[in-house]
Amino acid sequence: MNCPKCRSTMNYESFIGGEQKGFAWVYDGWRCVYCGEVVDPLILRNRMRMRALETKPNRVHAGHFDAETKAA
Ligand SMILES: [Zn+2]
Repeated sequence: MNCPKCRSTMNYESFIGGEQKGFAWVYDGWRCVYCGEVVDPLILRNRMRMRALETKPNRVHAGHFDAETKAA
């Protein structure tokens, strides 16, 4: 997975928040190690409306990244 803004490497991690409001939320997503851009399945769905990303987006991106690495 490369950053859509600067094309740098993105780390897959979990984001946690909302605890001070009496409830917590957590989701997994990608964060750019260079510019801090965050991309998660919900953002991708809102921005791009790609139905294919609604199931296991991490596996799709991991396979895509491997292919890119070998090609380069
Ligand atoms: Zn970036």
